[in-house]
Amino acid sequence: MYINGKWIDSESGKTREIINPYNQEIIATAAEGNEKDTKDAIQAARQTFDEGSWSTLPANERGEFVYQIGQLIRRDSQELAELETLDTGKTIQESRDDMADIANVFLYFGGLADKNGGEIVKSPFPDSESKVVREPVGVCGQITPWNYPLLQAAWKIAPALAAGNTIVVKPSEITPLTTVKVFQLIEEAGIPKGVANLVLGAGVSTGAELSANHHVDLISFTGGMETGKTIMQAASHNVKKIALELGGKNPNIVFADADFETAVDQALNAVFFHAGQVCSAGARLLVEESIHDEFVEALIERTKRIKLGNGFDESTQSGPLISAEHLAKVEQYVEIGEKEGATLAVGGKRPNDSELQNGFFYLPTIFTNCTNDMRIVQEEVFGPVLTVETFQSKEEAVKLANDTIYGLAGAVWTQDLNKADFIATRLRMGTVWINDFHPYFAQAPWGGYKQSGIGRELGQQGMEEYTEVKHIYRNK
Ligand code: NAD
Repeated sequence: MYINGKWIDSESGKTREIINPYNQEIIATAAEGNEKDTKDAIQAARQTFDEGSWSTLPANERGEFVYQIGQLIRRDSQELAELETLDTGKTIQESRDDMADIANVFLYFGGLADKNGGEIVKSPFPDSESKVVREPVGVCGQITPWNYPLLQAAWKIAPALAAGNTIVVKPSEITPLTTVKVFQLIEEAGIPKGVANLVLGAGVSTGAELSANHHVDLISFTGGMETGKTIMQAASHNVKKIALELGGKNPNIVFADADFETAVDQALNAVFFHAGQVCSAGARLLVEESIHDEFVEALIERTKRIKLGNGFDESTQSGPLISAEHLAKVEQYVEIGEKEGATLAVGGKRPNDSELQNGFFYLPTIFTNCTNDMRIVQEEVFGPVLTVETFQSKEEAVKLANDTIYGLAGAVWTQDLNKADFIATRLRMGTVWINDFHPYFAQAPWGGYKQSGIGRELGQQGMEEYTEVKHIYRNK
């Protein structure tokens, strides 16, 4: 752990073994922090913030530090990508793409640091002056999940530092490796001690302390909805600001006039990318009735060809799930789908392949004949499971797509741009893709409507989350 500029073990002396989900080998031993370690990290962040040298540093200088972290990530991107694949099982190409995105996030927020000069407001009173400025929030707790370990951390660390906050980061206890490595780069970049702190350990101890502690001004969390609710409750004790990036059950709407080949390939990519362990996975396929049979046939045929394997093998298209517990959860959902009467069209079990027996692999799975009242359609499986439903009109497509507690992302495939616009403006979701799935980048905001979360990451909005707004009025 990295607390107040020092690398330390937990005061408890406890450690945790980190497992490669491809073969269950132990790849590292991490410190297992506790409440006391977390309090120490919070105290370092609090003291550093209150003393003021970071928050009042000229914004362009803070920006340079953040930019420098981005450059170091670029320099070490191959090593970081390998660590991420080792830790999560995702393919090495996915990890390389993640690292390129992550470097860009730091470069973007580094550049944005000095771009917000505030605004002058016309006062209604004579001989007076009003200005509105943005200031850092203070001490920020940042809790991240295991599916995109470093990407999710980057989305939080870069804007928080650029805006002048001090931070305590708590990565998922299952996948801490790349976040540890980036803290080494944060140290190398010369970020002053106490500004950025790293605590490792279980959510129920370190994460819970961060969420409840009165010296933390903002808690930013990415992870499951139930954890999000617990954090929200804990944060209410001192009315912390909260930013939540929670789950999704994202619709992918395909009209009959879509480019058939691309829509089929992308429908598979939408849901099976990273074995479906993606908050924005296109897990609910809504396909226009007139092309349903042909579309499903193509999906099934191509799904059977998806190559599971070692993420380090360049020909692997999908790695394992993250853990035995998660595999069991996915298996349970497939059972639920079958009991509910959905038709298991392909997959629905672990692969037979002897090479994959030590990993947490599950075959890409498609259910047809689904209806919106099924749990398999409504609940986030967070695995390689696609449900297929049909619609007859654009109005029905919108109705089905919006019939969910979630509102993270959705996509529509059609060559009729008016139809695409009709759908895009009516989906109650933070991101809508037209004729594509998954693109996100540092310049545009990311976040959920409804129970998919509160607030936005990335883009100008992602920076604003880490600021307070102050009105300064002066009577001349
Ligand atoms: P999780 O909620 O189990 O854990 C996330 C983090 O919260 C971990 O660091 C964990 O240690 C910590 N935590 C657990 N209990 C806690 C507690 N009581 N108090 C404070 N912290 C606690 O989620 P996960 O299984 O790691 O990730 C999967 C979930 O994340 C999925 O639901 C997925 O949709 C969501 N996710 C959302 C986005 C997004 O951008 N909306 C991105 C990635 C993942």
